[in-house]
Amino acid sequence: MGKMMKIGNLVGLVGWRGMVGSVLIDRMQTEGDFDLIEPVFFSTSNAGGQAPALAKNETILKDAFDIEALKKCDIIISAQGGDYTTEVFPKLRAAGWGGHWIDAASTLRMTDDAVIILDPVNLNVIKNALAKGGNNWIGGNCTVSCMLMGVGALYKAGLVEWMTSMTYQAASGGGAQHMRELLTQFGTLNAEVKNLLDDPKSAILEIDRKVLGKQQALTPAETANFGVPLGGSLIPWIDKDLGLGKQSDEAGWGMSREEWKGGAETNKILGQGAAFGTAETPVDGFCVRVGTMRCHSQALTFKLKKDVPSADIEAMIAADNEWVKVVPNTREATVQHLTPVAVTGTLGIPVGRIRKLAMGPQYVGAFTIGDQLLWGAAEPLRRMLRILLAA
Ligand code: NAP
Repeated sequence: MGKMMKIGNLVGLVGWRGMVGSVLIDRMQTEGDFDLIEPVFFSTSNAGGQAPALAKNETILKDAFDIEALKKCDIIISAQGGDYTTEVFPKLRAAGWGGHWIDAASTLRMTDDAVIILDPVNLNVIKNALAKGGNNWIGGNCTVSCMLMGVGALYKAGLVEWMTSMTYQAASGGGAQHMRELLTQFGTLNAEVKNLLDDPKSAILEIDRKVLGKQQALTPAETANFGVPLGGSLIPWIDKDLGLGKQSDEAGWGMSREEWKGGAETNKILGQGAAFGTAETPVDGFCVRVGTMRCHSQALTFKLKKDVPSADIEAMIAADNEWVKVVPNTREATVQHLTPVAVTGTLGIPVGRIRKLAMGPQYVGAFTIGDQLLWGAAEPLRRMLRILLAA
């Protein structure tokens, strides 16, 4: 194959003001990405408005549904969401656009011509696809990406017979509006019992009763995004009901779409499974929304193919990439370094609680956390932009 033509640097940005988009722009600024590109800012809600101060020549927001305007871009990065991708992407390709589409939404992840991008884990898959003319680069599910950044070493070493993950996913995983809703609920609940909290002699059961009463009485407007209260509660279902499996005793029955992504995307990122002519590693578990602001946490259980000493497991994980950090399995280190509060806003991926489980020497537990807006969303997108600009 001849040398590829250099990819142009006119980069369309769609969804830049959302949760993922804002973090993306922030990271692109920090890393100097804007020095290398000519950005064009698009909007689904404010075309004709003022583009952010970062704009160079194109200072007016373009209509994100204007195919002709999109077609001019060499590269488009979208963090707008799945509905937007579903509507616009096919029209853009049908109109003959051959540029590079980098996307945070899940819509295109499992299509044959798309690569799920997580370059510290699968740069080889990305480079192979690029050499073959690939131009659809889709960020992985946030929880899956953070998990593979943390414990990818065990997969790469071929040690994993199967894995389950039990997740604790932040409100911001749903987007900007979800984060606001959670905080507003916390405020509403606090206001309900503020007088009682201010009085140290008030009865705790009275506080408890009033909070529960308020949670149960939250209006549809107060729960518009999550559907039910999240403040002071949790929701053990994320994304759609897949309706997989016809019988209640078939694997896949009653699985949420988020849970399905765990297995499907982990295997695709690693370049394994039916599409690659190899066996899949079973990955399954429960995905739970909790009232944290940022960061998806997960408790992992591995069955390894053989008994590997814990110290070796720790060493392999620690050596995998420059962002993963093994947290010693002590109470002190865990509560200091293995929490969303410690990890939010950082690219670090701590993996802790690594220990052999009671089931036997091949069973290993671990707990890992990642800022799902960084490694789980924005970071792989901007790194893909860099890979394209350097190609
Ligand atoms: P989001 O915060 O809801 O933003 C999406 C769009 O909503 C914005 O681009 C903006 O579009 C519009 N919007 C409406 N009201 C807004 C407000 N008050 N503040 C900011 N934006 C507002 O969604 P997101 O969480 O960034 O997710 C975008 C995509 O990334 C989705 O496909 C999601 O599944 C995926 N993703 C999300 C995460 C995560 O942790 N959140 C992680 C990985 C992947 P206009 O400016 O055009 O109006």
